[in-house]
Amino acid sequence: MIFNKYPEEKIALRFAMRHNLVPPVNVMSLLEKYADIEEDSLPNDVDGICLEREGTKPLVIVDRFKPVKRKRFTLAHELGHIIIPWHSGTMICHTNKEVSIYENYLYAMFEQQANRFASEILIPTSWLKNMISSIKFKEQLIRTVIDIADVSLSAALIAIYKNLTPGNILLVTLNGVVQLKLTSPGTKYNIGKDLDILQLNSVSDINEKFQVGSYKVYCWEFSNSITPIINSNGKRELAKVILKRILESIERQDKLQSINGIIGAMNGTNKTSTKEELYSLLKQRIASDESLESFFKHPEFEYFLQCRVAELRK
Ligand SMILES: [Zn+2]
Repeated sequence: MIFNKYPEEKIALRFAMRHNLVPPVNVMSLLEKYADIEEDSLPNDVDGICLEREGTKPLVIVDRFKPVKRKRFTLAHELGHIIIPWHSGTMICHTNKEVSIYENYLYAMFEQQANRFASEILIPTSWLKNMISSIKFKEQLIRTVIDIADVSLSAALIAIYKNLTPGNILLVTLNGVVQLKLTSPGTKYNIGKDLDILQLNSVSDINEKFQVGSYKVYCWEFSNSITPIINSNGKRELAKVILKRILESIERQDKLQSINGIIGAMNGTNKTSTKEELYSLLKQRIASDESLESFFKHPEFEYFLQCRVAELRK
């Protein structure tokens, strides 16, 4: 049961068992047993502070302006600093920062350990695994974990994606800006380099897209544990494969020459056009051709055209 876990996760697990913790964990009353808690306005990005005091319980100060669910995570994180035996001294905490922002390696490690402790306390792995095996769709799974465990979207996603089978990819954006990218363990896909929404939509077995608050969440799933490794530079090859697939599915393989002809001619007479201009010219041209109606209406048509234009205007 406690295989493959970090020491701080094992500590959290034993702690949770001792206190009979079941989501939603009342983290405030739990922490009150170990520390005095105050809310205050803290500088910059600081979420919380854990002050060691001589002769009395530590003092935890939480930033009063952070969202409720994030405060809950911070409280569990500070509890981690108190319970994990090798953490000592005063901690100034930023619970959602990447390791790289810290110059002090040891401090960064402590922060990560406290985060892992907090995650295990609020979203226990055994409870989460039950949820994962009983809820098929990601949207429902994610919403359920957020609601029952009373955690933020990012806390839920990090815990969930650590426990999914290989072949799961996640992207979260806010106003078009990437906020979070995750893969389940064992997924052979380079999210740092290759992540392409349209590409993943076309090659994955299941894809879901939904909104949580202002965040857009994209989930892709491959039933085969080996995710296709897609070369993002291979737009030309990809466009070819998609075109072949579309034409086969609409049984119009005879249109291959004429489609390539239209694209070639349009590109030739609009050499100076931008990617967007060429895309819209081609779209109009193909839309106006009655003999290409089924091609134009195919769900993968736009994706094909984007790949083809990207290749012509790279
Ligand atoms: Zn901390």
